Amino acid sequence: MKIHSSKLQVLDFLTHRSSTNQYYHLLHSQYLSYDELYHLQNAKLQNLIKHVYHTVEYYHTLMDKYKLKPRDIQNQSDLEKLPILTKEIIKQNYLSFISSIYQSFNPVKKITGGSTGAPLQYYISKNVESYAWGSIWRAWNVGGYEPGDRVAVLGGDSIIKRNYKTKIYYFLNNWNVLPITKLNENNIFYIYEEIKRSSCKMIYAYPTPLLFLAQFMLKNELKLQINHIVTTSEMLFPNHRAIIEKAFNCKVYDFYGANDGGLLSFQCEYFDGYHLCMEKCIAEIVDDELQKRLPANEVGNIVLTDLENYAMPFIRYQVGDRGAITNATCKCGRGLNRLTTIAGRVKDFIELPNGKIIDGSYFTKRFRNVPSVLLFQIVQKPTKDIYAKVRLSENEKSSTIALENIEKFISDELKINFKIIRDDSFHRSTNQKFQYIVKE
Ligand SMILES: [Zn+2]
Repeated sequence: MKIHSSKLQVLDFLTHRSSTNQYYHLLHSQYLSYDELYHLQNAKLQNLIKHVYHTVEYYHTLMDKYKLKPRDIQNQSDLEKLPILTKEIIKQNYLSFISSIYQSFNPVKKITGGSTGAPLQYYISKNVESYAWGSIWRAWNVGGYEPGDRVAVLGGDSIIKRNYKTKIYYFLNNWNVLPITKLNENNIFYIYEEIKRSSCKMIYAYPTPLLFLAQFMLKNELKLQINHIVTTSEMLFPNHRAIIEKAFNCKVYDFYGANDGGLLSFQCEYFDGYHLCMEKCIAEIVDDELQKRLPANEVGNIVLTDLENYAMPFIRYQVGDRGAITNATCKCGRGLNRLTTIAGRVKDFIELPNGKIIDGSYFTKRFRNVPSVLLFQIVQKPTKDIYAKVRLSENEKSSTIALENIEKFISDELKINFKIIRDDSFHRSTNQKFQYIVKE
């Protein structure tokens, strides 16, 4: 164990990060009270506001326009004096968002996935990466991970790079990185064997490849000795979680992040929402007009202020996801507030053939309570007509009736001709993320 955790310190040294230090710091700070964390955020916010006023042209001009000085923004209520920032505003004023002293923060270039239109390129301070990894390990620690434990990482093309640098990176992390691109009956046994052979204590993966592996294991009565699983990047549905937990005989903890806004959140042992990494980011929920902050537990647009990104700061950034937040105390004792709902993503809105626009989570709600539907995908044709592809579990005979009921219900309610077909040749994004809504 000691050897493996010291490998992470070598990794920190090579990548100029301080993730290990942040991790131990975050393990402690998560048990501060909500009020203490709130005050910590305010102190960080004051520093950030001073920084942007003096070194970021966009914010200097904006604050002058609103007749604001750094002293006018002392806490999170004052933050409402600044307008919401959208991707469009960033694109139109791109260079003026970069701090004039950005080089001193050891900046790293990043790019968004681009599913909400053209990808957005941006910079983060090195410290943001340190916090991100410290925070991810803290989330893994809920299920028992200790720094340096062997982890099986199941990923798409983007993480399966086989040059020597990434091999060293995986070695120092003590990861067994396994490709899940084009997962099928022929190579799935190899993935299973590899996880078994490498004695991984934990699996970190997207939910859908894990679901395939879980079904394969259940069907063939295969077992693995895994301590716990952490899923990320895609929506984790309750029926999928149940199948995965049954097959692996361990708990699944979900992790949810939005890198461009600095959001990191995780499920604790009580699975009651997602604890936000308050030490790094202020999350707010605002209404659809992007004017008013909404009270606790109301669903709206997630707006983020990354308190650690000094290279290219985004303040009150609308990340494109929707949710609700509570700061009610969690049974686990962590003071970190929680996302109670992560609702349909803005990008998943669909325009129906009749011109009506609906939230994609409409379909999620209709399908997720049908036990026989393992996976579904809503496909929109160029003509705007929509249909659903589904994969059903094998031993459910009642599924035909259930599907007919959904077809009728949706057709009537949305006043469209809606069909469901049994076809699991699902469309996938280039990084193998499962997409619940695709446009042909
Ligand atoms: Zn908790």
